[in-house]
Amino acid sequence: MFKVVYSSSSKKVWRCLAMFAIKRELKLNNVETSLMRGNAGFKRWVYNFGLDLLTASWSFEDIKTSDSKRIDAIKKVFTQVTMLIPEYAWMKLYPSTVYQSAFIDLKDAFSRWRKGLAEFPKKKSKKKGDSFTLYKTAGIYPLIGEPPLPFTNRVVISAGKLIKLPGLKELRLKERIDFMCSSQTFTVSRTADKWFVAFMLDAQKIPPIIHPIETIGVDLGMKVLATCSDGTFYDMPVTTKKAKTKLGKIQWRNRNKLLGNKKRRIKASNNALKYYTQLAKQHAHIANIRQDTTQKMTTDISRKAAVIRIEDLNVSGMIANHKLASAVSNNCFYEIRRQLTYKQPFYATRVELVDRWFPSSKMCSKCGHIQPMGLSERVYNCGNCGNIQDRDDNASNNLRDAPFDKIRLA
Ligand SMILES: [Zn+2]
Repeated sequence: MFKVVYSSSSKKVWRCLAMFAIKRELKLNNVETSLMRGNAGFKRWVYNFGLDLLTASWSFEDIKTSDSKRIDAIKKVFTQVTMLIPEYAWMKLYPSTVYQSAFIDLKDAFSRWRKGLAEFPKKKSKKKGDSFTLYKTAGIYPLIGEPPLPFTNRVVISAGKLIKLPGLKELRLKERIDFMCSSQTFTVSRTADKWFVAFMLDAQKIPPIIHPIETIGVDLGMKVLATCSDGTFYDMPVTTKKAKTKLGKIQWRNRNKLLGNKKRRIKASNNALKYYTQLAKQHAHIANIRQDTTQKMTTDISRKAAVIRIEDLNVSGMIANHKLASAVSNNCFYEIRRQLTYKQPFYATRVELVDRWFPSSKMCSKCGHIQPMGLSERVYNCGNCGNIQDRDDNASNNLRDAPFDKIRLA
């Protein structure tokens, strides 16, 4: 699906040819939230209305026509009769694409069912989450299987934290969109109490990605999460420490509870069951903070540099060493590597692994002198050229400058 093209102009520029979706959380006030709920409710109403009429129409045996044509007829009834009833005047408050897409979805659902690809279409319910679709109505929305419409029907989205969806007012986004782009169809959806907008991008229209740094060395450390050769470093937020302290407290306070044991057939007390849920929540909380931090960090690094060099750590070996185990699993080395690797096509980066026997922390990054370095030594003090450097800084510089025979692709 992805194809990364390297153009050999004087400035190194990577271009990513791909189709991919952008999904952003919307930052809504109460008025906007109820508008979104209204839109989703409208779509659900129309879908269920169409579903009812279609199944009812099958009982008239003298009408012999396809589902698609029946749905077209139902749509006519909806726009020319139903929408004009004063009771349904509220429908005019919402963009027309909302009900149009409901009929498109209905056609799609029935054709999938007829082909045996899906179960019989069910009525939509609020419990299953909300969603609706918006698109620009400069032309005719393509039917299923038809080619997409020309560029004129596309909505241009400018870079930043605001988005103007067709038929709605400008909305705020929680996370910015990095570049000007265009799309045709937008899907707004709700998960729990959060609202999202998603749209497909034709990445050929994305401006080429220019990385300010060509090669970066990233040293995954014990003390800080990661140190980069450009002098920046990333660390776990203080909240992880707080959350872990709280975890310890929860465990200590509940040390005398009658915990269940299946082997010995001891049933857990009611309070122990409450404790288990509390424990699970706290563990999930810590995992969430970690995931959030590493995701932000790997995205940041991928935007910064074209080539990312990290140490090919023997993670399982390090975890076996109990002194290193906690530091390694805390700082989720493997997870960082996984994220950097899968983000390659999105940011047109290349992740390179430096041989695990390459002496990145024992070598001087200035003169190449190698000397022993204890695990607890925080500063590299070169015995040859007198270079004094932070241990992790020195290692990240060495990773960046590692010789080619010590490198393999991730
Ligand atoms: Zn030196």
